[in-house]
Amino acid sequence: MLFKDLVNFVYPAYCLDCGCRLEGEDIFLCPKCFDALPKYFGMEGYYNATERLEGLVPFTEFQADLIFGNPSVVRTLIHRIKYNGFPNTGYKLARHFAQQHYDAGHFMDVTVIVPIPLLKKRLHRRGYNQSAAIARGLAEVYSLPIDETLLARNDGRGTQTHRGKEARWQQVQGAFYSPKEDEVKGKRILIVDDVLTSGATLISAGRALIDAGAESISFYTLAVDALL
Ligand SMILES: [Zn+2]
Repeated sequence: MLFKDLVNFVYPAYCLDCGCRLEGEDIFLCPKCFDALPKYFGMEGYYNATERLEGLVPFTEFQADLIFGNPSVVRTLIHRIKYNGFPNTGYKLARHFAQQHYDAGHFMDVTVIVPIPLLKKRLHRRGYNQSAAIARGLAEVYSLPIDETLLARNDGRGTQTHRGKEARWQQVQGAFYSPKEDEVKGKRILIVDDVLTSGATLISAGRALIDAGAESISFYTLAVDALL
């Protein structure tokens, strides 16, 4: 990477896709490249995310905004958020899309937002939880609280696998628990993650909160990956 590309990656003054100059309100991409991002509209086939969750956990609503293709600008953005130390990118993207969901009347019954927690070791290494950054964007638009204490991870359990639906659920059973069952009771919770892949993470997290007494569960992920 050239030095000027590096500077642009850290403080983007130019579109991360086409390289044209950005204006004040642009979110890392010029309006043209932003509009061209592959959007998720709950489609059929490879990208049908709802199908991955159905029947395994009772939930009110699932929404996502982008398709995590390969290669794609969405992949670059998600890497920026997850691995390159720019959680603010997730916050800004989520805030942008949250406004559209709010206007469309999604997640209207939610009372609290819960980001998927990271494994302690990973949180320590990364220094931030990207899902919490995405949650902040939603929380701001919806004027809802975020509670990172309602859901915790049992360290050492796998969360991703690409086998059958039932096997995926088996794999992550018990991956999450609620350390605060009293505070979960009666809550209508929006669980937030960065990318939906197998759905196993959301299923396990949703089950933990339902078991702890949550009144209802909805899901939001910034992007959806193909399940091949
Ligand atoms: Zn552009």
